Amino acid sequence: MTRALYPGTFDPIHYGHVDIATRASAIFSKVVVAVYDAPPKKLLFTTEERLSMACIALAHLPNVVVMSYSGLTVNYAHEAGASVIVRGLRNVADFQYEHQIGWANHQLAGDVELCCFFCNGDYAQLSATILKEVASLGGDVSQWTPPHVQQALSDKFSQIATDGQAAKIGGRQGKLSHRS
Ligand code: ADP
Repeated sequence: MTRALYPGTFDPIHYGHVDIATRASAIFSKVVVAVYDAPPKKLLFTTEERLSMACIALAHLPNVVVMSYSGLTVNYAHEAGASVIVRGLRNVADFQYEHQIGWANHQLAGDVELCCFFCNGDYAQLSATILKEVASLGGDVSQWTPPHVQQALSDKFSQIATDGQAAKIGGRQGKLSHRS
């Protein structure tokens, strides 16, 4: 009865992530997909949005739950009762990164093991960054992420475009009123 933690930013979740969660759920008794609350990188979606999208994308997997967390991943692994951290590997860069983080985690908590899955070849080049870039330009991302995430991406970029437009108009109005 080994419980695993699958941590990540999931900004947003895509089929590469779903594939890893699905395969982990077939091996471990329970998989806690842990959405990191405050990563040191700029995010498109809020924690609540990322959590909600992941919940819907993984709802068909009965032994998978989705939670958010902050702080050290190993501390959250202990809190969640997980003795294994699951990560996905796409390429050598992922390997090098996971090797280093895995070493640090092991120094911090020797009782938490790392289990890396080689990604499904269909998603080897897929990243949340590529997904967001294509979606921001109106490209078709249906082969990479579920319909509700496609919708969320489309809504988010429409909102950003509207806000940008409003800011421009606001800026002009500001100048106009300043001069008048
Ligand atoms: P990070 O946790 O590094 O901020 P993500 O949230 O995007 O990055 O990814 C969470 C985990 O999912 C990481 O282990 C990452 O390597 C893995 N992953 C990301 N994209 C894919 C993919 N296309 N196929 C399989 N695993 C992936």
